[in-house]
Amino acid sequence: MTSISGDIGLNQVTCDAAPTATFLKTSAAAGFGAVTLWRHKVGNGLHDKVRGQAADLGLQIASLCRGGFFTTGPNQRAAHDDNRRAIDEAVALGAPLLVLVCGPSTDGNLTGALSRIRTGVEGLLDYASQAGIGLAVEPFHPMFVAERSALISLRQANDLLDQIDHPSLSIALDTYHVWWDPELPTQLRRAGKRVSIVHVADWLVPTTSLLRGRGLPGDGIIQLAPLLAAIKDSGFTGWFEVETLNDDLLEESPAVTAELAHRAMSGLLHPGARGDP
Ligand code: ZN
Repeated sequence: MTSISGDIGLNQVTCDAAPTATFLKTSAAAGFGAVTLWRHKVGNGLHDKVRGQAADLGLQIASLCRGGFFTTGPNQRAAHDDNRRAIDEAVALGAPLLVLVCGPSTDGNLTGALSRIRTGVEGLLDYASQAGIGLAVEPFHPMFVAERSALISLRQANDLLDQIDHPSLSIALDTYHVWWDPELPTQLRRAGKRVSIVHVADWLVPTTSLLRGRGLPGDGIIQLAPLLAAIKDSGFTGWFEVETLNDDLLEESPAVTAELAHRAMSGLLHPGARGDP
């Protein structure tokens, strides 16, 4: 049977309790073709080793999470230095993309926060592009505006890319963050090939934790099949990556979670394909 897993990736936070080596083995065994790793999970000085482990398992490292947070702190120097380190780590891992959580508006000044985000991204792009690393800004759900990101819609992300206009800058699109947006179809068409990676999680009802209450694809109310089809139709050809932050999932073994996630994504992306009974 022809493999149908080449377009489906797994984000490490979905199996957050597993050490990185276990996560890689589990991802490969479940049929994923790529993973995204988190910086704190890789560990200091282990980038070459992890890169080799992924390669041996036939896994691409699609991206590294995360950089950004351009708006926090009294000045941008600390974020700037940490973001350069994140780019260096992406190089060491062979990850072509660094995902940016852009930083919140901590004082209610949304315009000011967006301005700092623009300045921060602009200040990082030359260093990233010289290193061969792309930067992907991830618009968040508006409920995170004061804690994670003042960039809270695909429209704003498109606007930012229009303003900066740099070939190394792209958008990480997360279904959990953008599904509610009445402008989504229009902004998807506007984004086109600017979307470099897609995170997939579902919206549970009720959502008991804003940060860590996401559902595996198919467990919530987002109409994911048409949404993922619309993303494909907009020109996206990259990895659809399950990124489900959920404390209940951590009670499961990583193997069970990875299998559930892969099966759900296969069903969404390839509804006509027949898997194992
Ligand atoms: Zn995400």
